Amino acid sequence: MIVNNSAVSQWCSILRMTIAVALIPASSAYANERHVYNISVDYALSRLFIEARFAHPVTSITARSRDAGKYLVDVRGCDQQRNIRMRNRRMMLPQGGIDCIYYTVDLSKAARHDRNYRDLAVGNAIIAPSLWLWRPEVNVRSEIDVNFTLPRDVRVSVPWRKREDSKDSYRIRRSPESSYAPVVFGNFDFREIAIEGSILRVSLLRGADNVDKQAMFDWVEETAKHVNLAYGRFPNPAPQVVVVPINAGRGSGPVPFGQVIRDGGETVQLFVNPDRSMNDFKADWTATHEFSHLMLPYLERRYRWISEGFSQYYQNVLLVRAGIYDEQYAWQKLYDGYERGRKSRPELSPNEAAEGRVRSGTMKIYWSGAALALMADVELREQSGGKESLDSILGKLQQCCLPGDRVWSGEALFQKLDTLATRPVFIPLLRRYADTAGFPDTRDVFVRLGIATGGGKIKFRRNGELSEIRLAITRGDPNHVDQQLAGTIGKR
Ligand SMILES: [Zn+2]
Repeated sequence: MIVNNSAVSQWCSILRMTIAVALIPASSAYANERHVYNISVDYALSRLFIEARFAHPVTSITARSRDAGKYLVDVRGCDQQRNIRMRNRRMMLPQGGIDCIYYTVDLSKAARHDRNYRDLAVGNAIIAPSLWLWRPEVNVRSEIDVNFTLPRDVRVSVPWRKREDSKDSYRIRRSPESSYAPVVFGNFDFREIAIEGSILRVSLLRGADNVDKQAMFDWVEETAKHVNLAYGRFPNPAPQVVVVPINAGRGSGPVPFGQVIRDGGETVQLFVNPDRSMNDFKADWTATHEFSHLMLPYLERRYRWISEGFSQYYQNVLLVRAGIYDEQYAWQKLYDGYERGRKSRPELSPNEAAEGRVRSGTMKIYWSGAALALMADVELREQSGGKESLDSILGKLQQCCLPGDRVWSGEALFQKLDTLATRPVFIPLLRRYADTAGFPDTRDVFVRLGIATGGGKIKFRRNGELSEIRLAITRGDPNHVDQQLAGTIGKR
């Protein structure tokens, strides 16, 4: 996640609600129970009507959010037509359980639950399933099918896997449930955009009138493709991308905030300021940062410095490969970031900073992992004579393990990365720095890469021991970079 301004506390409060449990399995191979939800919505987006048919009688049904009860209009058994009472967020079900319920949700009220969406136009609503998906306790052998019946001109966008046999039918994947997914209803613009390795499912919501839709979809495509400059393909085959226009004044920059959510699938949500020019959008790094997060699985909270750091490293490297930054600018940004990280809460280790709620530790959280990413990248390239790199190892990680359906620890991730490399690089770095107060020291790497840093301004030296590696980092693998840029260069 990245937040460019004062919205920090707002998003932090969302993170605090994070529930790191995996509930629903990805693979139907193991499934032996399937719950089916048939959902309809009225044209005015005022009500959701939900029929939930369970695989067997269930004795407990809950929603993930504590607030879901506020929006429940009524609930009853499908056959008995009997009302079901609520107590402490739970439905009071008959003894012996129930195999089908029918309930109604006040969609117009629930759509106002999250103030982040307050600028949406009438006819567009975003409402997290945690507010309306009442479900039984599910285990690794359960799965949930959701079928929508929608009025004409009303669409739905979800992060879930689309089922091939029907237009608006989805299967909910097991996922880390890192936050609350956005489910979008209404007459917004939607496009499926094919890039290498993925079909992006992009929804552009309606807010301000002055949005250049084509330019906005092009920008999403180009920034998602930045990630492909790492190993030639996008890490997720079908992510949900939600672009939410907001009113000017709610944060500076073309993309005041963005977020990756892994709840039933992977979502990249970008809040955009339509008053900014397309040139501003193309020069902005926020979307590249968010898309880069998908190169790693979801990590436990104490290791989020790894997620944030790898994205900070990659956004700079990838923007050079895309031709948006020059080398000098990118290395200066990395240097400045490492300096900010070094000054941030030096008495804490990265794990401590990430576990705590200390706002002034933000720069340590954002840059410690970026320092490790640089060190690992240089070491991989050096020890393999250029055959391996952080790019190639993350490419292998994608092949084996992404998109991830569970929450990883930093140890588990770094161990996996080491098994993908010829020699271990990652675990030694983790052991050395994760629980050590201070900041991973990048000064020696900069010297070896041929980057002088006197007076806070970086300068390339002619005879750096590893200058070739420095160039290789920002050049990327020519096979992938040339292939990716061939498709975008005409649009730039
Ligand atoms: Zn981030």
